Amino acid sequence: MATNLSILVDSPTTKYSDSDEQMAFSDYSSNLPDLIIPIDAQDVHESPNPIEQQNIPANYTFTFNEIDKTTPIDKVNLDMDHTIGNISIITIYIKCWRHFNKADGYPPYELFRWFFEGGGWRPYLKEFLLYLVDLRSKGYIKQINIHTSVSNYNGYVDWIAQCMDKLCETEGIIDNIYDSSVSGGISQCGATYKPISPSAILFDDKPWNAYPYNRSVGVPYYEQNVSNEPFYQMFDKQHHKELQSVLEYDARQYPINYNDFTGDTFFKDIVPKLKEYFGY
Ligand SMILES: [Mg+2]
Repeated sequence: MATNLSILVDSPTTKYSDSDEQMAFSDYSSNLPDLIIPIDAQDVHESPNPIEQQNIPANYTFTFNEIDKTTPIDKVNLDMDHTIGNISIITIYIKCWRHFNKADGYPPYELFRWFFEGGGWRPYLKEFLLYLVDLRSKGYIKQINIHTSVSNYNGYVDWIAQCMDKLCETEGIIDNIYDSSVSGGISQCGATYKPISPSAILFDDKPWNAYPYNRSVGVPYYEQNVSNEPFYQMFDKQHHKELQSVLEYDARQYPINYNDFTGDTFFKDIVPKLKEYFGY
């Protein structure tokens, strides 16, 4: 398939959206993934209108302790970007991989393990997910879901869910994907409002966009940068210049944060709190 590597959008004034398949992969609209996880739309449309005014108390800090526990928790929803990891650059990597390998679909996780496990995933994601899977298998919760502002256009979020399975060496971690198509509208900061099922809680780096806000747990913004060096090594030297121009373009749109996030322990620290709540 002849494809154009450019990630520029039609209008120079339109900024493409990072981690947005519709923009980054617009050449691939007919390229459907093997696995499609159905969206349980009924479950997320309980808020009839976009959330407008939530009176969030000024001193509210979105900790797990502050969660309104009146309705027992039986679903755990996870935001994607900056919560489970800093993975959006992978959309560019995949586009380049398809282009130079004349490939369709998504690459094997193993090819990009260096990225995901070298800082793309938030530390302790595996331990956290395996605990949730254990909770579900013992009947303490019913579902583990992804709830993201990213579009699942072309099955991108499905693929990320499969990558989570690979990380954990298990299958079927994610039950449902709620993507931008089931959002409650665009919030002030550009993310989507997220109506949450009454029995669910959400983990999100922008917890204030959830409705109701008091079922949403704040996760520190995670933005670990992973060196591109292994990426270049995946390709013939003659292509490095072109790859470099693409990555530099992306870095201009989304400047790289060089702070060190590798010491993040959010997922490690939340497990004991969940254990206390579930008594397991
Ligand atoms: Mg996020």
